[in-house]
Amino acid sequence: MRQTLDFLLNDWLHVEQLTARPRFAEHSAETFAAVLDTCERIARDKFAPFNRLADTQEPHFDGERVHLPQATHDATLAYAESGMLAAAQDYDVGGMQLPCVIEMAGNAFFSKASVAMGGYAMLTSGNASLLMVHGTPTQREVFAKNEFAGRWFGTMCLSEPQAGSSLSDVATRAELDDASDPLGPRYRLTGNKMWISGGEHEITENIIHLVLAKVPGPDGKLIPGTRGISLFICPKWLVNERAELTGERNDIVLAGLNHKLGYRGTTNCLLNLGEKGQGAVGYLVGKVGDGLRCMFHMMNEARIGVGLGAVMLGYAGYEASLEYARQRPQGRPMTAAGKDSASPQRPIIEHADVRRMLLAQKSYVEGGLALELYCARLVDELHTGEAAAEAQAVLDVLIPIAKSWPSEWCLEANSLAIQVLGGYGYTRDFPVEQYWRDQRLNMIHEGTHGIQALDLLGRKVVQQGGASLAALAARVQHTIERAMQTGWSAEANQLAAALAQVGGATKKAWSTGQPEEALANATPYMQAFGHTVLAWLWLDVALALPGEGDFAQGKRAAARYFFAYELPKIGAWLDVVARREPLCRDMKTEWF
Ligand SMILES: Cc1cc2nc3c(=O)[nH]c(=O)nc-3n(C[C@H](O)[C@H](O)[C@H](O)COP(=O)(O)OP(=O)(O)OC[C@H]3O[C@@H](n4cnc5c(N)ncnc54)[C@H](O)[C@@H]3O)c2cc1C
Repeated sequence: MRQTLDFLLNDWLHVEQLTARPRFAEHSAETFAAVLDTCERIARDKFAPFNRLADTQEPHFDGERVHLPQATHDATLAYAESGMLAAAQDYDVGGMQLPCVIEMAGNAFFSKASVAMGGYAMLTSGNASLLMVHGTPTQREVFAKNEFAGRWFGTMCLSEPQAGSSLSDVATRAELDDASDPLGPRYRLTGNKMWISGGEHEITENIIHLVLAKVPGPDGKLIPGTRGISLFICPKWLVNERAELTGERNDIVLAGLNHKLGYRGTTNCLLNLGEKGQGAVGYLVGKVGDGLRCMFHMMNEARIGVGLGAVMLGYAGYEASLEYARQRPQGRPMTAAGKDSASPQRPIIEHADVRRMLLAQKSYVEGGLALELYCARLVDELHTGEAAAEAQAVLDVLIPIAKSWPSEWCLEANSLAIQVLGGYGYTRDFPVEQYWRDQRLNMIHEGTHGIQALDLLGRKVVQQGGASLAALAARVQHTIERAMQTGWSAEANQLAAALAQVGGATKKAWSTGQPEEALANATPYMQAFGHTVLAWLWLDVALALPGEGDFAQGKRAAARYFFAYELPKIGAWLDVVARREPLCRDMKTEWF
């Protein structure tokens, strides 16, 4: 994986060019490599050996305290000590001023080693980064800085039992208590937050919850829709403006832990706010009614992070099944003369069908890695590049793909990894079943698969008269033109046809102007769109491959696999989109 990562970063995305920009001037190819080395080492020593333990020793609540394996404490604190919590932050707040693409690449090692143990740090970094943008100077100093230092960890509290995909229905209520508190306008919050990752633990002395809640209007009623949503900092233990714990427990308490299919190393909590009386103390971040906008400020990075986590779980399964397939003897070659049962068995990797399963995995996980790094590189273009508007447009359409494509196809990779191991894959004696269970979350959180599809077809590809889609198409076209001059011209033609098909289906889906008609097949649309994007990236990667060695040949085979076995699938997906197939929409509830 390291060789692939280095190739994608250096030979394909040319990350060293970023060091010419003032923000990254103190970095070099060597400092980038040193960051990756450190992450790889900590992940290998502190995370990977305990991934199974974090799964079998599920977080346990004894009624007062939540218990986690000591290894989770040690691993997360080692991560904090590495400085990665503030990797992308300015030097003057203790950060490393790393480009997003290097930060993401470093974090990839942790997702691969133990995605669940890594969850606490990812949430903390996202929480503190949000406060750096939207918090007051005191909120940044007190909360964000202590999170970056690893003294306190953070959470994101959006969901409620009755409000998941539909956040406009958030019912947690925030009443003004004291507008002049030095930590920000102080409110009292009452309500319930469901599914909160990292919502309770004792790894750090405090937990800083970022909570979405509604401030009632003048009539005392909660304002309907997302306009009414505001964002609050609710520390588990109250603190003063000097960042000292006051010793007083905030009224935000654990009602219970959720027991999950996978991802068990990260606690997942139902939290009750204001159960005991006046309400939990929460300090307003930004303006009243601006909560969702603040929360989604970091959305691009969060969704790339989820996508990358999905890719790395796929990668872990691919590597485990590859190693197994090289060693497992089973079966003999079938020749025209039949099988020679006196001959030794062959390793299963020599069977074409096993190679098919390994190539599928390789094409999903390496293609997925290219996708996520490409998107992270676009985030850097957005923040420090010269063509920020174009980068924004391309990123807009790619973000639903970055989140959803690996969630679906690296789950398939994990399933294929189990299949390669046969019965052994289905047992807990091998790691592949855990990867599949951990992976299954990714189509659910950070916007479900269906919600991502609605975002893509309902908003992103039609926004500004289709300008974002056109910006992406221009980049795809550029790759096609370059590939036409090479031995990849057949694939280039195939990609050009796919791009035209996606464009045509987009138009036909919206030709009646009826959202219900267009969006009834949003998920197949997203599948086709995602496969087209991946074909493009594979072609682009193939053009950057050096020489004839095993490394390059393997990647070429994976690229060809994607064009031969995967891209043709888009026909079926786009057919239902283009004819606005009404079946799912018209199906009556009573007919089920
Ligand atoms: C392990 C885990 C960790 C999580 N961590 C956090 C966290 O840290 N913080 C946090 O705030 N939340 C967290 N979540 C919550 C997660 O974001 C929600 O589960 C998710 O948003 C879906 O909400 P829901 O579960 O209520 O499902 P629902 O919204 O009820 O969705 C159920 C199904 O209906 C579909 N659906 C819903 N609405 C529509 C629609 N309009 N059109 C088409 N289809 C629709 C969905 O796609 C889905 O398939 C976590 C969840 C899990 C399982």
